[in-house]
Amino acid sequence: MQQPLKNTSTLDLPLASSAPILPGTTPPTWLGVMGGGQLGRMFTHQAQAMGYKVAVLEPEPDCPAGHVADRHFLANYSDAFALADMAALCAAVTTEFENVSAQSLATLAQHSFVAPAAASVSVAQDRMLEKRFFTACAKESTVLPAPHKLIASAADIDDIPADLLPGILKTVRLGYDGKGQARVRTLDEVRQAFADMNGVECVLEKMLPLAYEVSVLVVRGADAKAVVCPIAENVHRDGILFTTTVPGPNVSDETAKRAQHAALVIIEQLAYVGVLCIEFFVLQDGSLVVNEVAPRPHNSGHYTMDACVTSQFAQQVRAMARLPLGDTRQHSPAVMLNILGDVWFEGDSDQAREPAWDKILALPSAHLHLYGKAQPRRGRKMGHITFIAATLPAAQQQLAAACAILGIVL
Ligand code: ATP
Ligand code: MG
Repeated sequence: MQQPLKNTSTLDLPLASSAPILPGTTPPTWLGVMGGGQLGRMFTHQAQAMGYKVAVLEPEPDCPAGHVADRHFLANYSDAFALADMAALCAAVTTEFENVSAQSLATLAQHSFVAPAAASVSVAQDRMLEKRFFTACAKESTVLPAPHKLIASAADIDDIPADLLPGILKTVRLGYDGKGQARVRTLDEVRQAFADMNGVECVLEKMLPLAYEVSVLVVRGADAKAVVCPIAENVHRDGILFTTTVPGPNVSDETAKRAQHAALVIIEQLAYVGVLCIEFFVLQDGSLVVNEVAPRPHNSGHYTMDACVTSQFAQQVRAMARLPLGDTRQHSPAVMLNILGDVWFEGDSDQAREPAWDKILALPSAHLHLYGKAQPRRGRKMGHITFIAATLPAAQQQLAAACAILGIVL
């Protein structure tokens, strides 16, 4: 909850400083996060474990990060007073969602170290900017985005090249978890889908023959040193991430190396500071296509919490505090299963039930993470379980056992 501001110790911190922002000081050092969802909650846990106080700015009073933060600024993300309070309190501020406005980040940057910076976040907010950026990087990264065309107005639909169809029409801004997207086969279907999206700017992407999907987490410090995590193979269901498997059973060494190299080129060219997740498609002919970036830790990077030397949230803390980045080495094969609100209901009915977490935790390799959301709803991300084991088949076996317990069809 919002409390009066007492600690202004970080006001004196020289902004241009490249000095690390150390934890465990007297008075304590505060880190801030824009957004109060589960990513903010896991960031908060990690920052607190490392000795920082954490402030969250989030308009929703009952939210996953607000429950655990040392201070909750209960305000809209663009509230000038709350932003000023946050900047005065926190030595550094990060974000847990991509749609925080550039203006808010710029306001915070007047008094705090903001990582990632507004300019890099804005690339992730606009699918056209993002695709132009990927294309500009391709000379070095060797990986292109899907063939596409901007549909800014209905007139643009008339000159869609035939080979872009069938395709996917995506809003340029504010899409997530497959929302703001429509699959289209004909020009008439594009017209209908564009009208259904109320004529907001869209991009039409060619529908590609995907073999599987992967993502790569990269982290870059304020000193421009970057590290890359093992590549993750992702399975989506109904537009929502279902499982992440690392090492990915389909991923060749060559694909892994190429995607990791592309990720390092992209983070470098963005001059990005913080954790960045880059999603790729692998096509049936083995070629690699870059899809999008998320300027924050990512659902597909949750496996790092239990399977790697340094979790993505610990890397986020280290990057924003200008500390050395941690080792990205994975010590155990891992499968991450997202837990949606559906498992709080019997089958397809409205009948509520409590999932048998005791039985899940009887599986020796299961690491349960629940986000403290009071209302389970179908399709709502409530938590995740990571299975780590000595071998990938052993982890997959435990995944199958957990799905049987929770009534999830694998
Ligand atoms: P999220 O927030 O889950 O990352 P999103 O709403 O930002 O999703 P995308 O990642 O662009 O949207 O697309 C969602 C899913 O749709 C992809 O993971 C992929 O399965 C499928 N998809 C997207 N674009 C294409 C394409 N050009 N060809 C084939 N499949 C695609
Ligand atoms: Mg995506």
